[in-house]
Parts: sequence; C-alpha cells; structure tokens
Amino acid sequence: MGIFAKIAAGEIPSYKCAENDEFYAFLDINPLVKGHTLVIPRREVDYIFDMEDDELARFEVFAKKVAVAIKAAFPCVKVGQAVLGLEVPHAHIHLIPMQSEKDMNFANPKLSLSAEEMKEIADKIYKEFSK
Ligand code: 5GP
Repeated sequence: MGIFAKIAAGEIPSYKCAENDEFYAFLDINPLVKGHTLVIPRREVDYIFDMEDDELARFEVFAKKVAVAIKAAFPCVKVGQAVLGLEVPHAHIHLIPMQSEKDMNFANPKLSLSAEEMKEIADKIYKEFSK
C-alpha cells in the first residue's frame, strides 16, 4: 500500500480535515499557506484522469465541500485547486486558501509549522466540514 492509502486507512498519522466512506482530506505536511489541504480517494489510483467519470465527479463534489470548510476556517479571496501528482503516485487535489495568485506557486518556500499549529488548523477545518 502506498503512503497516501496508508494515511487514509489511519496506518500513518495525518492531520485530518474531512472524510467520508470514499474520500479523505488532510493537511499537506509542507504547506504553502495555512490551510493547504490534500484530498484523496481512499482507493489507490495514481492518475486522477484515470478515474471513472462517476468517481471523479464524486471526488470533485467532496473537494468542493472541503473547500467551503477551508474558506470558512481561513477567510481568503478564493480556495485554489491544483493537481500535480509528480511526487506521490496517488491521485490528490491540493486545496489552497489564496489571498493572491502568488499563493499557488509551488516553487515558494514551504511553511514550517509546529505539530500544535497543524492540529489546530486541521481541527478548525474539520469543525467547519462537520457543520
Ligand atoms: P505532488 O505529488 O502533488 O507533486 O506533491 C505531493 C504533495 O504531498 C506535496 O505537497 C507534499 O508536501 C505532500 N506530501 C508528501 N508526503 C506526504 C506525507 O507523508 N504526508 C502529508 N501530509 N503530505 C505529504
């Protein structure tokens, strides 16, 4: 099992932001900004565009709910969405609260946040998602 599948299964710890039977959302360990979240299918699939149409639609609808929760927890202009998948071969959507387009630059230095801060951020998003 790959690292993200293990995270979704709870075998590797993560800062949980949202979940349902099929999908899981957690904080990126090297965030571009506070609230940078990854959304994944629990099942292992590498390339997002290999997903069947129905599954991809449900994935995006789940990501939308997570984005709404992120925006409520971390007021921003918009939540940006990006798909790269160059590092981890398990489909994932990056959700990034943006104040400007600069926040979507993956070449930016990453934030280094304490475990307490990460937990606080994830809990805030989880609380909004659960409303
Ligand atoms: P990508 O595959 O989209 O190019 O990059 C993978 C992303 O996943 C990166 O932003 C990286 O910080 C994040 N990432 C890689 N390994 C882990 C991990 O073990 N835990 C978490 N929470 N994030 C990870």
